[in-house]
Amino acid sequence: MNVPEIFGSMVFNDAAMKERLPKGTYKALKKTIEEGKALDINVANVVAHSMKEWALEHGATHYTHWFQPMTGITAEKHDSFITPTDGGGVIMEFSGKELIKGEPDASSFPSGGIRATFEARGYTAWDPTSYAFIKDGSLCIPTAFCSYTGEILDKKTPLLRSMEVINVQALRILKAFGDSTTQRVITTVGPEQEYFLVDKEIFRKRKDLIYCGRTLFGARPPKGQELDDHYFGTIKPRVSAYMKELDETLWKYGIYAKTKHNEVAPAQHELAPIFDSSNIATDHNQLTMATMKDIADKHGLVCLLHEKPFAGVNGSGKHNNWSMSTNTGKNLLDPSKNPRENIQFLVFLAAVIRAVDDHQDLLRIAVASAGNDHRLGANEAPPAILSMYLGDDLSEVLRSIMYNEEYTKKDAPIMETNADVLPNFVKDTSDRNRTSPFAFTGNKFEFRMVGSAENIACTNTIINTIVADALSDFADELEKAEDVSTAAEELVRRTLKDHKRIIFNGDNYSEEWVEEAKKRGLLNYRTLPDALPHYTDEKNIKLFGKHGIYTEVELRSRTEIILENYSKIINIEALTALDMAKKDIVPAVAAYIRELAETASVVKSIGGDIDILPETELVKKLSNLLACFTKKIDVLDRAVLGAKDVEGVTECAVYYKDKVLASMQELRAVADEMESNMSAKHWPYPSYGTMLFSV
Ligand code: ADP
Ligand code: MG
Repeated sequence: MNVPEIFGSMVFNDAAMKERLPKGTYKALKKTIEEGKALDINVANVVAHSMKEWALEHGATHYTHWFQPMTGITAEKHDSFITPTDGGGVIMEFSGKELIKGEPDASSFPSGGIRATFEARGYTAWDPTSYAFIKDGSLCIPTAFCSYTGEILDKKTPLLRSMEVINVQALRILKAFGDSTTQRVITTVGPEQEYFLVDKEIFRKRKDLIYCGRTLFGARPPKGQELDDHYFGTIKPRVSAYMKELDETLWKYGIYAKTKHNEVAPAQHELAPIFDSSNIATDHNQLTMATMKDIADKHGLVCLLHEKPFAGVNGSGKHNNWSMSTNTGKNLLDPSKNPRENIQFLVFLAAVIRAVDDHQDLLRIAVASAGNDHRLGANEAPPAILSMYLGDDLSEVLRSIMYNEEYTKKDAPIMETNADVLPNFVKDTSDRNRTSPFAFTGNKFEFRMVGSAENIACTNTIINTIVADALSDFADELEKAEDVSTAAEELVRRTLKDHKRIIFNGDNYSEEWVEEAKKRGLLNYRTLPDALPHYTDEKNIKLFGKHGIYTEVELRSRTEIILENYSKIINIEALTALDMAKKDIVPAVAAYIRELAETASVVKSIGGDIDILPETELVKKLSNLLACFTKKIDVLDRAVLGAKDVEGVTECAVYYKDKVLASMQELRAVADEMESNMSAKHWPYPSYGTMLFSV
């Protein structure tokens, strides 16, 4: 495989544009992209024509505006290029108008009460900063999505807005420090994607996986992840073949797939790309998730992106590595050799610290989903409490500023391997902290609370906005200062003093931290229904309004969509659990009990003492459990019915969490106990052991 040759071969990227577009058109397009201006229709016509020619050469027959509505997945409606000709034939056509703007019926996408369904019109608009690509015979045009009345209905538009806002504010800071060369500041993101692979045949036998993407029942297998023998373990041939095809496909889409390895839980893996601008990284992550599923299918596998497919082992997350960089490629969060003297770095760092502390609620909201609620706070995942880890070295620097103390830079320690054949090497000045939800990792922040299935647009819109807000206040101050360095140092000192409670270098999984965090006044929204209502707090309406990210109407509609979606997901899960319980589990347990009882009666008929038979004990045990199980079915049935009487989206979500989800968990506990006592032959579903160790 010649990687440089296939890389980006399915993308109408800069190289393809340069090669195919007339010079003038190419220049005009580049200008609109770089300056974020609207595209002229004449330019669009020429671009559309060459894009179509290129697409036809690469086997495409259709085009689609590829967008990210509030469903979380990407949406596409395919139109073929055909236009009828006089003689009853067709030619392949594609106009500038079709490239720039699409008009899908928006009525079936969630809008959170923004439009009545009779006002169905929705528009998609090409985002020329993200390249078009060919997937499955269709030219996919990355687009934004809004309603007829102009309200945004997607996840891309607010992200683009937030990138613009942070650009403006960061430039003000740079300018205050005397930088007049930087033209643009972009935010960069590298999302590390975790996922599970299970065998397709086994998957098909589990209704819970089919309908919910996670198991609703399943007794613990004899072996889980306790030996840590899967993490970075040798990749099995079947998984390796999958990963190879996945890499190759992603490279063709111009995605920098870089790292792949086995994760902690059995059957769990990770793929990390090289970082890119937030917008491209988001589009690419969406495309990566879709491709992971497609390729799995070809290998007789199913890729599970759910945050918690299996109880008892780790769930899946998506570490969102985030930084800011200038158009000349300088990373603004790079501490350089001596961070104590790099006051500009410290100002950007302080902005992030203030942002995270002031807006813990928003970061928690950004990652809230029904799936992620099972993960945050469990096993390896960070807790639902926000805190930041800076490492010993940087913490020392900040301490010295806060208390006006001397700082002597420690030399990076040398690691002595004590084996002649191994070289000694320079260690990093501080270790990692795997438990921190928001960790500084050298020259970027790693936000670890994001769920594996989530679209990262929302998270990054929020990070960009809250950091931009801090930068904006900082810029107000620095622009007025007579001596920028002194003012900046004072600003950093004050910010650290005000926000030091958010910094925590210890173990975020410990019980003590929950207590300590409470003392510090940090928020702890354990679940989505706890967190989401705060989206529309006065502070947040003001923040998003000030920076033009969401209007109050848009924010309210988003809150409503997320809460409604949560209730719907739990409703589907509850109905699935009931279906499995009534149609499969009860009959299976009853059949097994009957079989055992028959054995006992045979023993009795030949004069045996059935009271000392193990079968008798088991019949008693399982009968009791089954009686308990049917009661729990009843409770869950009534809980689901009761939801109809609950009014208000928030109240409804709270009801689903407290009543429905809780009843499902009780039902599951009994089922799992029965499974542990059943013959494998009689249990109606593949076991956890089979699912986790089958590939
Ligand atoms: P790990 O955290 O597993 O050690 P790395 O630190 O190499 O791995 O990187 C993890 C992810 O962070 C990768 O996707 C990488 O491209 C991304 N990353 C590295 N630098 C930046 C940056 N400046 N901005 C955003 N993401 C970055
Ligand atoms: Mg990492």
